[in-house]
Amino acid sequence: MSRIVILGAGTAGTIMANRLRRRFADGVKDGTTSITVVDQDDVHVYQPGLLFVPFGIYDADDVVRPRGKQLHDGIGYVQAAVERVLPAEREVELGNGTRLSYDVLIVASGTRIAPEETDGLTGPGWGETMFEFYTVEGARALGEKLATWPGGRLVINIVEMPIKCPVAPLEFAFLADWFFAQKGMRDRVQISYVTPLDGAFTKPVCTQVLGHLLEDKRVELVTEFNAGRVDGEAGILASWDEREVPFDLLVSVPLHQGAEFVKRSEGLGDDYGFVRTDLHTLQSRCAPEIFAIGDAADVPTSKAGSVAHFEAEVLEDNIARFLAGEPLVPAYDGHTNCFVETGYDKALLLDFNYDTEPLPGKFPFATIGPMKLLEATYANHLGKLAFKWLYWNVLMPGHDIPAVGAQMSMAGKQPVLQDS
Ligand SMILES: Cc1cc2nc3c(=O)[nH]c(=O)nc-3n(C[C@H](O)[C@H](O)[C@H](O)COP(=O)(O)OP(=O)(O)OC[C@H]3O[C@@H](n4cnc5c(N)ncnc54)[C@H](O)[C@@H]3O)c2cc1C
Repeated sequence: MSRIVILGAGTAGTIMANRLRRRFADGVKDGTTSITVVDQDDVHVYQPGLLFVPFGIYDADDVVRPRGKQLHDGIGYVQAAVERVLPAEREVELGNGTRLSYDVLIVASGTRIAPEETDGLTGPGWGETMFEFYTVEGARALGEKLATWPGGRLVINIVEMPIKCPVAPLEFAFLADWFFAQKGMRDRVQISYVTPLDGAFTKPVCTQVLGHLLEDKRVELVTEFNAGRVDGEAGILASWDEREVPFDLLVSVPLHQGAEFVKRSEGLGDDYGFVRTDLHTLQSRCAPEIFAIGDAADVPTSKAGSVAHFEAEVLEDNIARFLAGEPLVPAYDGHTNCFVETGYDKALLLDFNYDTEPLPGKFPFATIGPMKLLEATYANHLGKLAFKWLYWNVLMPGHDIPAVGAQMSMAGKQPVLQDS
């Protein structure tokens, strides 16, 4: 009997459960394999869609579906909060006091925003002049605010890295520029992008090639700004080194942390609650039968849905190998793929891994594309919109994406820019 337990039924947990269900179809049928997924609620959010909610492009209801319905027949679903993992006993303790035993444990508990960790952020002005768009409630509230906002100083701030989808705040700035232009009030809005990084993007080549985008869209860039405190009443965002940025409307991307239970589970995570994980096999550093996937893992690549999907292809094989007593394959290369919406019905596409920065070129086919890397095009924008359909109908059921493998391909890429 092999008991596989997955903690989290978001992007990564759902993909993994459905892939393993297919892989171990015979075992599930004859009762020698069980797959159980645990999550604290029944609201699966298509998080990339949250970006569009504040601008009225998607309604908040468009991005949510019930969790259990995304899981194939034969997968057990337990709705409960995870209290802690007990690696020595190979058990998971749930909030209701019950325990689940496992032979393989997959931690897919993601990351969550912690606005309360920044002094003043959730104080006076929170929900009035200070917002976030990383939750359904936050995105909806910000949408209501933007619909009637008369203009002023709009500040978009990343409190600290890592965050999920590191390009989402930039996309927000680009869409804000477009949104206010369409409303005929762009001249009444000053947009500032305030980041702890030394450039707009996390990757140097991107920053070099795409730095002009912010200038083109009249978005002021404030770099190396480590937010320490916010005064909602005075409308001031202050850094630890006492620099100040005034705002009329603050869109914060708050500090991110891993799930609390990871911190409570001996040896499992780091101080932020991310699971200490091997970069290439996705086995935890805590115990051989524990693995991590998606935002929950501390691997140094983007926290993105595409990462969860590529990791799942590798992890599915490694779980099968582990259960068969075979050595794991160090096959995950950090592959990340993301669309960056730039407004005006255009988007960029980035494709990179642990070793190779995003490069220009064509994707996924070397000759025909049809998408272009590091270039704002309409085809890329269509790709971004199509991702929603792909998410629910291809990724969540645990299928591969045609022509896009788990490992990054150099086909169609032009390596020349990396040294320039
Ligand atoms: C605004 C925004 C835009 C984005 N845009 C993109 C994009 O364009 N492309 C892209 O690839 N990615 C994008 N992402 C990132 C992507 O959505 C995430 O990286 C992805 O969802 C991570 O999947 P996950 O399964 O690791 O975490 P999640 O999907 O967050 O799932 C984690 C699950 O664990 C559960 N959980 C946590 N703690 C407990 C507990 N104690 N007990 C029980 N259950 C628990 C949670 O309820 C949750 O369901 C975006 C994210 C945001 C917020």
